[in-house]
Amino acid sequence: MLMQINIEKTTQPKKRPTEKELANIAFGTTFTDHMLLIDYKEGHGWNNARIVPYGPLPLYPATTCLHYGQLIFEGLKAYKTRDGGIVMFRPDQNMARMNNSGERMCIPRIDVLEAVEAIAKLVEVEEEWVPSLPATSLYIRPFIISTDTFLGVHPSSSYLFIVILCPVGAYYKEGLAPVRIYVENEYARTVKGGTGFAKCAGNYAASLKSQVEAENEGYAQVLWLDGAERRYIEEVGSMNVFFVIDGKVVTPELNGSILPGITRKSVIEVVKSWNMPVTERRITIDELAQAYKDGKVSEAFGSGTAAVISPIGELKWQDTVMRFNGGKIGEVSQRLYDEITGIQTCTREDKFGWVYKIK
Ligand SMILES: *Cc1c(COP(=O)(O)O)cnc(C)c1O
Repeated sequence: MLMQINIEKTTQPKKRPTEKELANIAFGTTFTDHMLLIDYKEGHGWNNARIVPYGPLPLYPATTCLHYGQLIFEGLKAYKTRDGGIVMFRPDQNMARMNNSGERMCIPRIDVLEAVEAIAKLVEVEEEWVPSLPATSLYIRPFIISTDTFLGVHPSSSYLFIVILCPVGAYYKEGLAPVRIYVENEYARTVKGGTGFAKCAGNYAASLKSQVEAENEGYAQVLWLDGAERRYIEEVGSMNVFFVIDGKVVTPELNGSILPGITRKSVIEVVKSWNMPVTERRITIDELAQAYKDGKVSEAFGSGTAAVISPIGELKWQDTVMRFNGGKIGEVSQRLYDEITGIQTCTREDKFGWVYKIK
């Protein structure tokens, strides 16, 4: 059930960065020649899908998303395979999650399959932009904004689904480098009943102050505890978090305030396939600090689309500084990185059926 997509090609294609230039371009600063737009109007559903030259959006100043933040987004990647093919990683999961985020933010559902096919079409139009060196990819950013133009606080009756694309270089320039993190004690990202599980713009606005303070102190990100009691571990920056405690992989269970990462889900499924124990449960910061003191925590890492696996070298909580695996990447982290990136780029067998072939 492919939706009809009009394609208007640019008459002024940009100069594409070379693979070498790409290595030095900051994430998310270079965009391809085209974007995908789909309108929504109450009573008409999603309609008028079109691929047009990348450019500014005409929006009235009263457009509701600019005032009340009815805005959700996604992030996924396309990869070039060794044989010149192009694939995406679990795009159906992203679109299903977008609908869950939308449900919370009163944004209408979009058909998962149709949305995935439309994104695949855009990537196909931009196939020359998909980089091919190891660990490079084409980052895909779908998002939905509310487009009614009135200042009343009410769900919009019209929306715009937009997809833009950025070629990105290797996240790690020289191997998986562990990062320093501190536990955020002052600010909360979200609370139960809030929008933590939704990938919405407001969650990010709420996290910026904390991120800035962490960077000023020489840390890469913060580890969020639950907003009410400040006891339970939730996530790290914009990644989910895992620990290896006593040889078992542990991650906080999804509780409504944690973002259900697709990389998180994939990590759990891969670890299970290795017949290694993995549990999703509540875990307090005290428990982690105690396990650390007892010498039981061998690894800590974040998971997310951008970095896939991001080892945590150091975690500071009040006066406790935890250093994992001598500040080096752990065995489980490395193995997971190799397996998941291998599946993503089709250099390892796709046992789980996660790869969506565009061509
Ligand atoms: C997107 C996101 C993640 C990671 O999700 P992936 O699907 O693995 O990329 C984790 N936490 C937050 C807050 C996020 O926005």
